[in-house]
Amino acid sequence: MVSRVIPVDPFDLVIFGGTGDLARRKILPALFRRYSSGQMPKNARIIGAARSAMDDAGYRTLTEEAIREFSPGKTCDDGTLKRFLGCLHYVKIDATGEAGWKELTEKVVSVDRVEAYYFSVAPSLFGPLAERLQSHGLADRNARIVVEKPFGRDLETARSLNETLARYFDESQIYRIDHYLGKETVQNLMAVRFGNMLFEPLWNSQFVDHIQITVAETVGVGGRGEYYDKSGAMRDMVQNHLMQLLCLIAMEPPARFDPDAVRDEKLKVIRALEPVEPHHIARGQYDADPADEVEFPDYRTAVDNPRSKTESFVALKTHVANWRWAGTPFYLRTGKRMGARASEITVVFKDTPHSIFGEDAGRHRNVLSIRLQPNEGITLGVTIKEPGPGGMRLIDVPLDMTFADALGPDGGESVDAYERLIMDVIRGNQTLFMRGDEVEAAWAWTDPIINGWTTRGDVPKPYDSGSDGPDAALQLMRRDSREWQKVG
Ligand code: NAD
Repeated sequence: MVSRVIPVDPFDLVIFGGTGDLARRKILPALFRRYSSGQMPKNARIIGAARSAMDDAGYRTLTEEAIREFSPGKTCDDGTLKRFLGCLHYVKIDATGEAGWKELTEKVVSVDRVEAYYFSVAPSLFGPLAERLQSHGLADRNARIVVEKPFGRDLETARSLNETLARYFDESQIYRIDHYLGKETVQNLMAVRFGNMLFEPLWNSQFVDHIQITVAETVGVGGRGEYYDKSGAMRDMVQNHLMQLLCLIAMEPPARFDPDAVRDEKLKVIRALEPVEPHHIARGQYDADPADEVEFPDYRTAVDNPRSKTESFVALKTHVANWRWAGTPFYLRTGKRMGARASEITVVFKDTPHSIFGEDAGRHRNVLSIRLQPNEGITLGVTIKEPGPGGMRLIDVPLDMTFADALGPDGGESVDAYERLIMDVIRGNQTLFMRGDEVEAAWAWTDPIINGWTTRGDVPKPYDSGSDGPDAALQLMRRDSREWQKVG
């Protein structure tokens, strides 16, 4: 099954921070892959804009090196790469001053093409960039801006950032990236829920016992220690990525698959979330790996802050207080240095109301697991008779669909989230981008949790590297007579 590639309209994409880590690891390789696939028009232009002194040739060299190092999967065809590099230009610019803006204005072709400005810089520069785009006449109706995470660090800062951007751009021009939404399987959540008759009638508290959302990483904070220690798992993962997954799992069917219809429904879910009780949260900080404490130190050593109270793990229980979900708990957990790298959503259905086979046969529950990574796919646990002459005993077997197997070798082509999202920016489709009110509502729910920790002087519990998190996370489930599903 080969997917169709429809070229997007010609565009100029200015990457502020075009020499930075994100641009080199994600944005530039993503653009190259879209160029190679034929989706990016040959006359599109990519303009790197950053602080380093460099000319077009220097930027092309930087980009070539980045693509060779970071382009996933495919080997680069030299001819295609050379033609792609011909689309690249560079301007040395100061986001907080006037240097470089005249040159940038001269380079951007604003007639008959989409203009996109990617803010791949520190959040403190978002406001100054928006202001200068406007003062230099670049913030016209044709323009759109792409804003990276983090979008604020609490409700107040997010609101202030929204207000600043709104001074220069309409909401329809602002694309707030949460790269989780660009993942193929995340979109498949909507296809599975709303493209099949099978699930939707059961998708409520009458049939669903509880839902688990796990995003587990095996890596530690790596080189991001300083940034991470000011943020923590709640801000870095729950407020955005896990919240988006929760929305897609819990939302009502939108009337149409259009940006505002989808985002309206997601917003209703966030606004319906109940505040989280302190005893429904477990926080943790990872310990060193005993096998190699130098390479894999404990969290506090890794962030160089021996008294850090920032969490590298969080698990919590919440409820969506509406008719569909009243009484069905949602358990969320995410952490670093865990036993497996996996993002998975598990819908655990209720017991059958009565077992006609008697208690000896055993009671079983259907469990629907949606794997976002790795090994993207869906597994439905179905109860059948244990084969053989041993009488009517029941066992669970998986009905397993790994997308790469189901779709064949070509259909399994992985499109990186950034590829899809950047093309959506050019197409003008905001469905997979967070709206300002969504981000604010998510912070409004997250803030009291974080503030509660600060007020109480809460200290995260240590947990073993390579484990499922601190014991408190297991107890969170066991108190409710439930267990975390094995992931990965
Ligand atoms: P980086 O420090 O590697 O790069 C920063 C870029 O900004 C450089 O190109 C630099 O020249 C430019 N810059 C700095 N000050 C400037 C100024 N005054 N005027 C013009 N340009 C200036 O940062 P990064 O890791 O690429 O991150 C960029 C943004 O993306 C940040 O908001 C970050 O939070 C976000 N982000 C990064 C990652 C990642 O994996 N690196 C992931 C998600 C989000």
